[in-house]
Amino acid sequence: MRTFPIFVSFDGRAPLVVGGGELAAIKARLLLKRADVVDVAADDLVPELAKFAEAGKVRTCAPAPGIDQLRGRPLVIAATEDEVEDARVSAIARALGVPVNVPDRPKLCTFALPAIVDRGEVTVAIGTSAAAPVLSQRLRAWLESELHPRLDDLARLAGEFRDLVAEKLPAGTPRRRLWESVFDGPAAEAMLKGDERKARALIDEAIARASKTGAPDASSSEGRVVLVGAGPGDPELLTMKAVRALKLADVVFYDRLVGEGVLEYARREAELVPVGKAKGAHSVPQAEINALLVERAKAGQTVVRLKGGDPFIFGRGGEELDALRAEGIAIEIIPGVTAGMAAAASLQVPLTHRDVSHTVTFVSGHDAGGKAPTFDDLDLRALASGNNTLVVYMGVTTGAVIARRLLDAGFRADLPVIAVENASRENERRVATNISAFAANPESLGLSSPAVLIFGEVAGLPVSGVVEDVLAREEVARAYA
Ligand code: SAH
Repeated sequence: MRTFPIFVSFDGRAPLVVGGGELAAIKARLLLKRADVVDVAADDLVPELAKFAEAGKVRTCAPAPGIDQLRGRPLVIAATEDEVEDARVSAIARALGVPVNVPDRPKLCTFALPAIVDRGEVTVAIGTSAAAPVLSQRLRAWLESELHPRLDDLARLAGEFRDLVAEKLPAGTPRRRLWESVFDGPAAEAMLKGDERKARALIDEAIARASKTGAPDASSSEGRVVLVGAGPGDPELLTMKAVRALKLADVVFYDRLVGEGVLEYARREAELVPVGKAKGAHSVPQAEINALLVERAKAGQTVVRLKGGDPFIFGRGGEELDALRAEGIAIEIIPGVTAGMAAAASLQVPLTHRDVSHTVTFVSGHDAGGKAPTFDDLDLRALASGNNTLVVYMGVTTGAVIARRLLDAGFRADLPVIAVENASRENERRVATNISAFAANPESLGLSSPAVLIFGEVAGLPVSGVVEDVLAREEVARAYA
């Protein structure tokens, strides 16, 4: 049955559900999203329906309804789960021209119930013509996560401005432009953040500007920079805010470590500029990146600075922040999943664990000059006493030196170490060893960048998935699925 979607108004007429069981309860619950009252034809009600009845939302009538009970209904759902009875109800409804649905019996239906994403004024109904209800549900889950929970507020606000816009702007292109600028621009963003006052002011401004100049956007409109954490590579580890920022960007400056799939989320018209920072190959010096961000924001653009992991964990986000602040540019920071935490999640190894580790320290494997760090500012002896986890970033080439320093500071020689390369990516690789073996023969790990090194008792906990064990000199699966 290929169906045509419509939205039905109940308008004071109660829809009828035939049956009082669990299935009927599910259908009544769905109808109550819009109907004030649902009539239920049944003698016995399951507790959920009884509760609705108590609250006055369900009115009961006699089971086995006939022509008089069905006539004039906006719709009927036969959910007695008794095939003969459902077929009987369906036949009467069809004869009367009343829309009828019998769950899972397409032949007895004249309409299908969609999967629904409900945002108040905004309703999305999904149908697959009964071919694949599971697909509908998956689409629904996806849309639920795509559609901002405050979308309803935005729709309401737009509704309030409709008359004013109609009065001030001619129909057609000028109105459409105005609404596009509202929904794609800072007004919608403010509203979705919960700042209704700002949103109203921005819409008022846009209307005034459009009625004067014909264009809702001021070319001198304020630019800004959003520092966005892109996570460790897997686009599914992006935050919803990161995705939203990418969708609004005029230009995206991205690091080499940003996962390929992540850029797919940028607005189609956005300019994508690599400012790749690979070790030893700083293609764009930091000062130049800072200057680019400032320049574009001053030109009125919405600039996204997309950085691997979290922008403030060894990402030089702080320097960019300083440069932007010095120029008085509007800034927003969106945190990301940092590589160390992504590695831990993938291994299913907690970085802190009762009885095993009480602290976690993120350290860089390079000092500002690009050498192995001296760790002068770390109390290594305190960390050596156990119950601590050390996560080393940028430590592929300096890891062995670091391991030796830790041993010198009193870390026990067989303390476990796990390295995770390309955490969260398709080519993720893990290698296990211990500090002294690592210090003696770092090449045996065969590590390449990007990788994080986890030093600590937690690195000896059971791990999910395959780990190459350098000590066993063989690939072993320490899998605890
Ligand atoms: N801001 C980033 C870190 C930037 S420094 C974050 O929060 O993750 C770059 C270092 O991060 C790399 O040398 C490596 O140690 C680590 N790194 C980044 N992505 C990684 C990944 N997918 N897997 C393992 N390590 C990664």
